[in-house]
Amino acid sequence: MGPPLFSADFSKRGLILKEILETAAPWALEDSRELYGIDHWGSRYFGVSPEGDVTVRLRKGDSWSDVSIHSLAQGAQERGLCMPVLFRFRDILDSRIILLNESFAKAIREYGYKGEYRGVFPVKVNQQQEVISEIVRAGRKYHHGLEAGSKAELIAALGYMHDPESYIVCNGYKDEEFIDLALYGNKLGLKVIIVVERPGELELVLSRAEKARVKPSLGLRIKLTAKSEGHWTESGGDKSIFGLTALQITESVDLLRERNMLDCLELLHYHQGSQLPNIRNIRIALTEACRYYAELKREGARMGILDIGGGLAVDYDGSKTNFASSKNYSMEEFCYDVVEIVMSTLDAEGVEHPVIVSESGRSLVAYSSVLVFNVLDINKAAHDEIPEELPESCHSYLKNLRETARSITAKNAQEAFNDAIYYRDELHSLFIHGTISLREKSLADRIFWHVINKIVRTTRQMDYIPEDLTGIDRVIHDTYYGNFSIFQSLPDSWAIDQLFPIMPIHRLREEPRRPAVLADITCDSDGKIDRFIDLQGVKNSLLLHDLKSDEEYFLGIFLVGAYQETLGDLHNLFGDTNIVSISLDDEGTVVYEHETKGDSVADVLSYVEYDPNELIRGFRSLAERAVRCRLLAPKERREIVEAYEAGLRGYTYYEW
Ligand SMILES: *Cc1c(COP(=O)(O)O)cnc(C)c1O
Repeated sequence: MGPPLFSADFSKRGLILKEILETAAPWALEDSRELYGIDHWGSRYFGVSPEGDVTVRLRKGDSWSDVSIHSLAQGAQERGLCMPVLFRFRDILDSRIILLNESFAKAIREYGYKGEYRGVFPVKVNQQQEVISEIVRAGRKYHHGLEAGSKAELIAALGYMHDPESYIVCNGYKDEEFIDLALYGNKLGLKVIIVVERPGELELVLSRAEKARVKPSLGLRIKLTAKSEGHWTESGGDKSIFGLTALQITESVDLLRERNMLDCLELLHYHQGSQLPNIRNIRIALTEACRYYAELKREGARMGILDIGGGLAVDYDGSKTNFASSKNYSMEEFCYDVVEIVMSTLDAEGVEHPVIVSESGRSLVAYSSVLVFNVLDINKAAHDEIPEELPESCHSYLKNLRETARSITAKNAQEAFNDAIYYRDELHSLFIHGTISLREKSLADRIFWHVINKIVRTTRQMDYIPEDLTGIDRVIHDTYYGNFSIFQSLPDSWAIDQLFPIMPIHRLREEPRRPAVLADITCDSDGKIDRFIDLQGVKNSLLLHDLKSDEEYFLGIFLVGAYQETLGDLHNLFGDTNIVSISLDDEGTVVYEHETKGDSVADVLSYVEYDPNELIRGFRSLAERAVRCRLLAPKERREIVEAYEAGLRGYTYYEW
């Protein structure tokens, strides 16, 4: 037996705690699953292997196989793909497309709904060629189409979507060229629908259609009154900058009637915003939209398609609540509710059932990408050991602080906290004024953190925690430096405080004991993650393992397939990460495909208009000057110039 856990005067509660500590079962896999919530947010795509690795479920012939993401990361490294690496899993994307379409099909069958479902994937959610071509391929069976919000997105869509039964829905601000391209799509036999979203746009569309001599397929985007909640509420509702008001809708209908073109108006569209956590708001908005739909039909428009926009949410924290990073409904419930509302509202109005379109993006692609990175270093904030004795000559406040540290009990924790703050502040000003030395200042900091640590441990055993001390444990955490850039790979974490599941991808049989926040390798103070998912609210730190000297420590950030890739920017000139797609062949051997090298330093510099050749010329002449001035031998010049050139060719992240 080692030394006793508590000193001789421990309380009764201490005794019980000691017993619990000594008899507690050792850390098990189950504890890691619970701690990181993987069974809640993983949606069965992600799990934990008996060896303690995070696994991803991939298709192997006709069955499924769980593959360790840790081994995938090692495999990527062996192939020369340095961390950070973004892994894409095509099987997950396919399975989401199937799930959405089959869920709608099931609801339609069970309710006896007379229309169909036709999804369109909004290109802006993940524009990567590999993703778009896979959606077109896997969605073909369901005639799953695309939504384009800009000219460039339409151009991309027209390159891949050639199924005449699928829809291409055009939203966003449209100039003549955008409209012409959409009309040419119609000429080529595709179903391209131009959605009018601002007053005045209709005139332009009609005149371009006349010129191109095609009959356009038109839609109207309406501005709903129904409010929603979540991060993106401003993109729907009265305040939305998009969509037509009731008055503008009647004006549009009048214009179409005047031109004898009411039969071109086929679609009604609205978009409440992305990540709608509450099914109630989805139902309210849809009911309102159905009223507009019925009225347009009554006005004599052709109609036939009801496009309910995006908003189908992802349960990032796994809590199944209406919290912003969650949702209180399943995909299946969503489909049932949508079909049921459209059916009951329109039946009551005696209107035929339309084709239902949803522009679900996030829910289709979020699960299919995982960012993996290695931890470079830890800054251990809380110092737990302090010297037994202080030098006789040191300042009396230091001795007082030391005394405070010695005498902490549950009873005086609050008082000790106040004293510690007081002495720390006083000692700080003594340092500023030159009264104490750097050595004394450093000692003061150490003792101060020792006091805070001790208070945190004490509060953990208290039934009632004084107000000043609640949340004090939040200040005690380590900083783990991750080899990635939040600005490049996780822009929504920085811009709108979105939460993503984050966890180690191995060592899950070991107990993680260090409360940590994550810092990236940009030198920006915003380059950190200090809010983590939790079933109850948000955690301010994440428990992680200590680093081992002989093994790298890898973390994964999950559910990053939607919006994160192209919103990212070049903060501190960290560029695109390496990307690789993973699948299994029929024997279950891992296939690494579509390997995309991340940006090199030369790439990112050229994005901001540097010319790499000119940089090399400049550096060479600097080196030559050093040789002339005899600061360098010619041989050293060669070595230094080579290092500069290798730096330009290299990855922007930490390499070794
Ligand atoms: C962004 C956007 C979407 C995608 O919404 P998700 O919530 O990701 O499904 C759909 N439609 C429009 C008009 C959008 O702007």
